[in-house]
Amino acid sequence: MSIESLYQDIILDHYKNPRGRGLLAAPLGVAFHVNPTCGDEVNMQVATAADGGLLIGYEGTGCSISQASASVLYELVRGLPVAEAEKIRMAFLELMHSQGHAEPDEEVLGDAIAFVGVAKYPARIKCALLPWMALQDAEIKGGLMTEANGDQK
Ligand code: ZN
Repeated sequence: MSIESLYQDIILDHYKNPRGRGLLAAPLGVAFHVNPTCGDEVNMQVATAADGGLLIGYEGTGCSISQASASVLYELVRGLPVAEAEKIRMAFLELMHSQGHAEPDEEVLGDAIAFVGVAKYPARIKCALLPWMALQDAEIKGGLMTEANGDQK
């Protein structure tokens, strides 16, 4: 099996079997983001557990890339302190802006390395980034992050 088809299988698996999909009972921050060029929608919710770890809730509709990306996001950042989650978010942004040339670190990015091929297709990058932009927005709205330490592209 080629690495490309392996990565496609990972994305399809997250699309068909989304991890942790569903909404939180008491979210602190909520962000609804759309990607009009593809028709993707993601509703992202954040809260914190008693130990300070992130709680993530989400729902969405759209293409396999956008929805799989939300599932991968959940798997990667739930339970982490906000600062740790932000490091992963920045690593994912970097991967998606790599034009497919990055050698992603699986230790940091887990299944998100499967999106390296997507980074070659500018039209699909927004699909992959949609949940991650919504995450940042939800964290800001929930007071878990300030605008100042937000996006540094
Ligand atoms: Zn899409």
